[in-house]
Amino acid sequence: MTNHRAYPMFDPAKAGAPDDLCPIATVINPMLPGDWRSLRPLVDRDKCVKCAVCWLYCPVQCIVEKPAWFDADLRTCKGCGICATECPHRAIAMVMETTG
Ligand code: SF4
Ligand code: SF4
Repeated sequence: MTNHRAYPMFDPAKAGAPDDLCPIATVINPMLPGDWRSLRPLVDRDKCVKCAVCWLYCPVQCIVEKPAWFDADLRTCKGCGICATECPHRAIAMVMETTG
């Protein structure tokens, strides 16, 4: 059967030979969302009742439980604001990241 593809077929038998691997997604990129996010959630600890709604809705599962409130792990939070929208107690505000 003729291979009509313009690019070479991946051969699993050669996996491990760097020149045979797809150049995309073979290099680990250490960048986390916290490196490029423009907004971040700020939790009002007095308003938070630990209902976990933010934890339920966060698409990247970066909400973490603290002793008396829930907070976002800012290394992985992408700043989408869903937690602030969904918090039934309006305990989360989205604030601008500062530079420098
Ligand atoms: S949804 Fe709001 S009140 Fe509930 S745990 Fe999260 S921050 Fe706290
Ligand atoms: S801003 Fe988005 S990614 Fe960050 S904690 Fe809220 S829901 Fe999760």
